[in-house]
Amino acid sequence: MQGLMQDWQLTCDKIIAHAKTNHPQREIVSRQVDGSITRTNYGAVYDRARKLSSALQKRGIVFGDRIGTMAWNNARHLETWYGLIGIGAIYHTLNPRLFPQQLHYIVGHAQDRMIFVDLSFVPILEAHQAALPSVECFVVLCDRAQMPDTNLRHAVCYEDLIDEGDDDVVWGGFDENTACGLCYTSGTTGNPKGVLYSHRSNTLMSLTCTSGGAMNIRGMDTCLMVVPMFHANAWALSFAAPMAGMKLVMPGPMMDGKSIFELLDGEKCTVSAAVPTVWLMLLNYLEETGAKLPHLNRVIIGGSACPRAIMEKFDKDYGVQVIHAWGMTETSPIGTVSHIEPEIADLPYDEQLSYRLKQGRSPFVVEMKISDDDGKDLPRDGKAFGALKVRGPAISNGYFGGEGGNVLDDEGWFDTGDVASIDPLGYMQITDRSKDVIKSGGEWISSIDLENAAMGHPAAAECAVIGLPHPKWDERPLLIVVLKDGMSASAQDFTDYLADKIAKWWMPDDVVFVGEIPHGPTGKVSKLDLREQFKDYVLPTI
Ligand code: AMP
Repeated sequence: MQGLMQDWQLTCDKIIAHAKTNHPQREIVSRQVDGSITRTNYGAVYDRARKLSSALQKRGIVFGDRIGTMAWNNARHLETWYGLIGIGAIYHTLNPRLFPQQLHYIVGHAQDRMIFVDLSFVPILEAHQAALPSVECFVVLCDRAQMPDTNLRHAVCYEDLIDEGDDDVVWGGFDENTACGLCYTSGTTGNPKGVLYSHRSNTLMSLTCTSGGAMNIRGMDTCLMVVPMFHANAWALSFAAPMAGMKLVMPGPMMDGKSIFELLDGEKCTVSAAVPTVWLMLLNYLEETGAKLPHLNRVIIGGSACPRAIMEKFDKDYGVQVIHAWGMTETSPIGTVSHIEPEIADLPYDEQLSYRLKQGRSPFVVEMKISDDDGKDLPRDGKAFGALKVRGPAISNGYFGGEGGNVLDDEGWFDTGDVASIDPLGYMQITDRSKDVIKSGGEWISSIDLENAAMGHPAAAECAVIGLPHPKWDERPLLIVVLKDGMSASAQDFTDYLADKIAKWWMPDDVVFVGEIPHGPTGKVSKLDLREQFKDYVLPTI
């Protein structure tokens, strides 16, 4: 027997339509490329996105077309997403930090017909447009007065394009499984692969994010959305915020500690989301200036492991709760969130912190498990660790164009490439990426745990650990450190510091100091580049 409920397709145009009806005045504040601040609201975003849809249709854009966006977080970028998805076209986010060959590859692979580009990135696309033949036209996200003198193919100013449109457009009315957004994963080997979100997966992920067990996105909050819209679906905030009616503050290109502080303070932000490096910069700025954060009550940290030092500092010095989350482009992206559950609510601070520092528990839409090399399930005992696998309605079941072949096992599980444990309370802890884990004497050393422990040293600005070949142990850890400006420390200082924080056999065989650690396009430490850089390095223990 079927239930007697309406067939109401979960398409994302309904999200901004809901915002227009229910909280049209809630603001979206954007820092522009020139540093100025502009304000709009969900009502205006809806109206302009519809005009954009109409203008796109007049220019021949149709259902299923892929359109690139190379832009910072700002209201025009948000309007562009909704203008595209309302008519069943697909936003394809382009990370401006991609290597040129990767950019050529993904635009060509996606067959993007247009690219919407922020002023900062016009020179990049001018330099590469010859290698992007599928792109018929470039739309520059700026006012008329700011329109640059550019040789971009059929360049048009965004505001002129909007003016070409009218209100005569039909949104939605298609199947909720229709493709909505495309985001390529950086992929350390081979070509990047396209993760193709559907309207349904984006809606379900956004509903999840508004729930207390995930990000608790609410109308009462104001969110500084630092996580870029070109990375991992902006942690679903572009959908969850209008769904909940949350005021959004978009930092544009300026993500240094001072600029982030100014927006947090000036706009009285209560919540924010970003990778650990952003928070390190902010905390350094706060320490230097003595500034406080009276409005901020929580920050969501993910993308890479949250070091203990960040969580403790936010807690103790600023009264800000850190919520640690894990996910990946393929998981839309929230996979787990670490909240204080009743079982740990009354634990002493340090004990509770050890749970909060884990990557967390899975919300309803994510099933997860760990398994060994033979694919056998491992227990949730907090000790066993193995391949982390996930399943759910907002998790990829393949890559765009069939790249990479079948990515699910017979039971529909997606192997994340992460190695993890899950404790009896359901808190998952990432040990490492499977290719970064250090295999020493038949046992595994977590590079992430070592990095986090080393980051607690007061002189450490950034730390990375890689495994180097060792004749006796197979691999041994090398700690690579960038020191804070004006501070000094020796290798011995670091090993002394680590002595009571890690197992003895985990102690790095050497510590080297560098001016800079290489990062990949999404801002994460590039272990691949580090391994290349140190491939001839001989450990002193050999
Ligand atoms: P991306 O698809 O670029 O967002 O990368 C996803 C990968 O980032 C995951 O598979 C993890 O290896 C890593 N990652 C994301 N969040 C965390 C976290 N909180 N702790 C440790 N690693 C993380």
